[in-house]
Amino acid sequence: MSSNTYISVVIPVYNEEGNVGLLTKSIEDALKLYKYEIIYVDDFSTDKTRQQIKVLENPNVILIELKRNYGQSSALAAGIEFARGNYVVTIDGDMQNDPSDIPKMLELAIAEDWDLVTGIRAKRKDNIIKTFPSKIANFIIRKATKLHISDAGCALKVMTAETAKNIPLYGELHRFIALNAHIDGARITEIPVKHHPRKFGVSKYGLGRTFKVMNDLLLILFQRKYLQKPLYLFGNMGMAFFGLGLLINIYLLIVKFLGNDIGTRPLLFLGILLILVGIQLFTIGIVADLLMRTYYESQNKTPYNVRNITSFGDKKTTLYA
Ligand code: UDP
Ligand code: MG
Repeated sequence: MSSNTYISVVIPVYNEEGNVGLLTKSIEDALKLYKYEIIYVDDFSTDKTRQQIKVLENPNVILIELKRNYGQSSALAAGIEFARGNYVVTIDGDMQNDPSDIPKMLELAIAEDWDLVTGIRAKRKDNIIKTFPSKIANFIIRKATKLHISDAGCALKVMTAETAKNIPLYGELHRFIALNAHIDGARITEIPVKHHPRKFGVSKYGLGRTFKVMNDLLLILFQRKYLQKPLYLFGNMGMAFFGLGLLINIYLLIVKFLGNDIGTRPLLFLGILLILVGIQLFTIGIVADLLMRTYYESQNKTPYNVRNITSFGDKKTTLYA
């Protein structure tokens, strides 16, 4: 264990009043030998989750309260943005993941210099409505990329802060953290972890989310493959059309100078058409490229709003207007 390892455990919570106390305790037991902070991001719970976190008065705990329910991805983003450690651990707030797995994941990341170590729920304790779509998603990821991942949806992950802070997190993207990290060039490995059935509270996800998840997956893969360099797609087509049109018109010009009439030739029509379409495609390419850049840059804005942050270590509450 390296003495300058500082761990930020980030936990999105939505109506987990029955879990936060026990979870805090088991994280403390697991991380006794480490320096760490536990960041709870309360995703606008309607039960007593916030109060249950506050009564702990645990100096290692930080509570970030969001202004409304933004979903697990955005809640994670808020916690990761705040994280001060050099390693970030993500874990669900419902005790389905086991904090006792964290040390071995962390040791592996440090010893072998992995950017991201993600869990494989060897004996997953969920029903088929959840496990089947996940199998399909894992299969698509394996076929479409060089990332060999068997359990993309496992929430328990250890990553370097740099990796964590660079991952886009909105919509349902928390399920594709490893995939997005892989696209950014992160070194990733998997390790088997424990998985428990939910004891308290209920799952927040049903079949409806599955479609959103698949949508996000296809969008990531599509963007990666086709949309990153739109200028080349439109631009090359535009230049080819323009070039062909130009050749046709030069040919017709020569024909005319040799004294022949070209007024009604279909080729004249084609030549002019190709030049015009070529110029248009080329400019569409430039606009598309600019749009993509703006699109990516606009992702920098946060997908959540914070009501306040309480740090129980120094008993400080920062209020956000
Ligand atoms: N969660 C959240 N916001 C939401 C829904 C869920 O922060 O809108 C949290 C939830 O409290 C839990 C984690 O995300 O800590 C995973 O949610 P859940 O256990 O319901 O998902 P499942 O394990 O059923 O996929
Ligand atoms: Mg769960």
